[in-house]
Amino acid sequence: AQPLLSVRDLRVSFVLDEGLVRAVDGTSFDVMPGQVLGVVGESGCGKSVTMRAILQLIDRPGRITKGEIHFRRDSGVVDLVQLSPRGGEMRDIRGGEIALIPQEPMAAFSPVHTVGDQIVEAILLHSHRWQPDRKLSRSEARDITVGLFRDVGISMPEQRIYTYSWQLSGGLRQRAMIAMALSCKPRLLIADEPTTAIDVTTQAQVLALLRDLQARYNTAIIFITHDLGVIAQMASYVVVMYLGRVMEEGPVDDIFHAPKHPYTRALLRSIPSLYGQTRVALPVISGALPHPFNRPPGCPFHPRCPDVMERCSVAVPRLMPVGTSQLASCFLHHEEAEQA
Ligand code: SF4
Ligand code: MG
Repeated sequence: AQPLLSVRDLRVSFVLDEGLVRAVDGTSFDVMPGQVLGVVGESGCGKSVTMRAILQLIDRPGRITKGEIHFRRDSGVVDLVQLSPRGGEMRDIRGGEIALIPQEPMAAFSPVHTVGDQIVEAILLHSHRWQPDRKLSRSEARDITVGLFRDVGISMPEQRIYTYSWQLSGGLRQRAMIAMALSCKPRLLIADEPTTAIDVTTQAQVLALLRDLQARYNTAIIFITHDLGVIAQMASYVVVMYLGRVMEEGPVDDIFHAPKHPYTRALLRSIPSLYGQTRVALPVISGALPHPFNRPPGCPFHPRCPDVMERCSVAVPRLMPVGTSQLASCFLHHEEAEQA
């Protein structure tokens, strides 16, 4: 099968008074149709910036400086980097074919309109995704909204669509947000730490809901999290990011059973009980995440790596196949360095 989305050597920089921050520094990965891809890493590793770049939502002083983002539409493959961020085609894709469930649930809705009204507007805006031949009527869009509320497990949907986002509990707001993201029948859903703001029980429900919706609609999902435990429940394939680069990627089972990269191993050690009830974040990775202005030369992980060798601080390891199913960028496994 052909990838739905293919990110190639993406670089995003922020030019600040204090200096240049290379937030994404040569990231590549693919998303297949209907696949759940997990993207994992500590905060500041470039996960969210990568996703904003896909949606062409990088604002100044940030800029995509290099790379390609190929997205497969009905009409063919387009490079999103080449599209004007505010142009018509990008607006069709953003919110229409690629939808974002943001980290901050409050930010998804305006406080002055009911949640249902906002979803109705989104459906009317991308009406052709539901009905290619003609424009949907407002009452048809309202019926779809009620159906979406039901799909995401909101009881009494006929009444609930008339509430405001600030009247909903955290869990319901999360569900309404997912309904909003589904309102355009996206091919690709980007979920950016969608469960950080809610309690553990609701978290489990939202994850189950997303799995269910993925199976039902065959929507591809990029699931961004700092929590490998969540990846284990959600994704089939995982990309591990550190300081704007991919450290390792592969099928979730293989990565969990035989991690190749020292950073992935450290992340895995920080989950004491993967399937247990308690999950405490243990700071087992020694050393702090470097300040963004002081990117280490060579392998970005070398100041914290227990296996560091001499060449690690001079050359940047390439992302290369290691074993049968994984890719890793680490000199423990190969000698290939990237041109700096
Ligand atoms: Fe550690 Fe060197 Fe591998 Fe980087 S390249 S992860 S520093 S062993
Ligand atoms: Mg983030």
